[in-house]
Amino acid sequence: QAATFDNGSPRKTLVILGSGWGSVSLLKNLDTTLYNVVVVSPRNYFLFTPLLPSTPVGTIELKSIVEPVRSIARRSPGEVIYYEAEATDIDPTEKTLKIKSISKDDTEMDLKYDYLVVGVGAQPTTFGIPGVFENASFLKEIPDAQEIRIKMMNNIEKAASLSPNDPERKRLLNFVVVGGGPTGVEFAAELQDYIDQDLSKWMPVLSKELKVTLVEALPNILNMFDKTLVEYAQDLFKQEKIDLKLKTMVKNVTPTTITAKSGDNLEEIPYGILVWATGNAPRDVTKKLMGKMESQNSRRGLLINDKLQLLGAEDSVWAVGDCTFYPGLFPTAQVAHQEGEYLASVLRKQYKIDQLKWQMVQNSNASETAKVKAKVDKLQGQIKPFKYNHQGALAYIGSEKAIADLAIGESKYQLAGSWTFLFWKSAYLGMCLSFRNRILVALDWAKVSFFGRDSSV
Ligand code: FAD
Ligand code: NAD
Repeated sequence: QAATFDNGSPRKTLVILGSGWGSVSLLKNLDTTLYNVVVVSPRNYFLFTPLLPSTPVGTIELKSIVEPVRSIARRSPGEVIYYEAEATDIDPTEKTLKIKSISKDDTEMDLKYDYLVVGVGAQPTTFGIPGVFENASFLKEIPDAQEIRIKMMNNIEKAASLSPNDPERKRLLNFVVVGGGPTGVEFAAELQDYIDQDLSKWMPVLSKELKVTLVEALPNILNMFDKTLVEYAQDLFKQEKIDLKLKTMVKNVTPTTITAKSGDNLEEIPYGILVWATGNAPRDVTKKLMGKMESQNSRRGLLINDKLQLLGAEDSVWAVGDCTFYPGLFPTAQVAHQEGEYLASVLRKQYKIDQLKWQMVQNSNASETAKVKAKVDKLQGQIKPFKYNHQGALAYIGSEKAIADLAIGESKYQLAGSWTFLFWKSAYLGMCLSFRNRILVALDWAKVSFFGRDSSV
């Protein structure tokens, strides 16, 4: 796009970091003709995270839940430049950032911005527990799901080659999930479904030896759900024979065992696969930015105001999603998505404000300038604080059952069971980013109900 508009005013550069829920929601709703839009993300696709726990066991194919950034950009009215790179350092004073290319051998480059949106998400937290990083698998990105699948299939085949009395066989077949938040619960549920519905047909003896253990430090799983739904989910886990270890905190991890503390007891649990899902921590680039700014004094994420402006750089930087910390806004796709939509409307107004400011600079007539300034003030007043509309939470809990904690206006509704599973399915189909994703996900579900899950790597 031309560097200036037809009236001669400069086109400002808007850099968007990330291609996740927050940034893509912004990109989809932004009038990209108003800015030089540059997207920087090490991942050249959007990932529909709610269905990621279904992928390692093959309920859903990975390709069905991704959408290329370039395909999203192609549908924008204006040009969008994309760099497959990660931001490594942000200088909010100079309004510059350093990016490191993924595709071009770590080549570094400086970018200048007028406006920056930080939507880099978060990384899995390990709470510094020894051995987690080296030995556990996480469930955050596509390569994580692929790694879990390969480990799972390898363990099953290795175990099959050992005699039934071999303790190594028992270890290989103990799949441990740490963290009873929705990620850990949904994955444990998918794993048990795979064992009961598919592996039991191919390997009936071995499938009975496979054990899923879910370890949670708190007295219950799914802490953010209503108590009745938590009880329902825990009862179902017991029926499904998932070994639920509550009030149990993992303290140490080796390549073959975890040490878990429950009350005064320390227990060594041998595992074949360990999936770690204990929540989020800020990424390095986020920590570096926080370290530079006096007003950024929380260790939980970037501090923003009610208009999503970064504290300490309110005039030029916004931050969305999991990289931020703001009371009442949880690290969920729902929040990040709504924040992206909100920012798109803010940036539309910001463009108008910038145009008026440019007119002011061009115009030396005092009364004319006063009129334009009044318009600027009015527009600035029209930028209202972000208001989050919580619609509820959903989780898949296995055996074709789901739970839903819904919020409709002031009313709250709790649903659980097989019908809720159908509701869960239709809600997630509706939330898919593109028509293509929707069709692929629906076909995956249909394929599984006809042919079962694929058991190859
Ligand atoms: P993300 O979606 O994580 O996107 C971050 C982006 O930044 C990515 O594109 C990443 O590649 C990029 N990036 C990383 N580092 C850099 C860098 N240095 N420079 C530039 N770009 C960078 N929430 C719900 O509401 N409902 C659900 O059902 C649900 N299910 C989930 C299931 C799983 C398995 C997981 C892990 C999360 C789930 N969540 C769910 C939470 C939800 O996915 C997150 O809250 C949401 O992704 C946050 O959006 P975001 O844009 O902040 O970050
Ligand atoms: P979480 O923060 O929601 O849960 C992590 C759990 O791990 C907590 O219950 C915590 O007590 C436990 N834990 C921490 N350290 C532990 C230890 N050493 N030993 C045992 N247990 C330990 O994390 P998550 O499930 O990864 O979710 C992250 C975010 O993504 C949340 O905001 C969540 O709401 C969102 N999410 C939502 C959905 C959904 O709505 N269906 C699905 C996945 C994720």
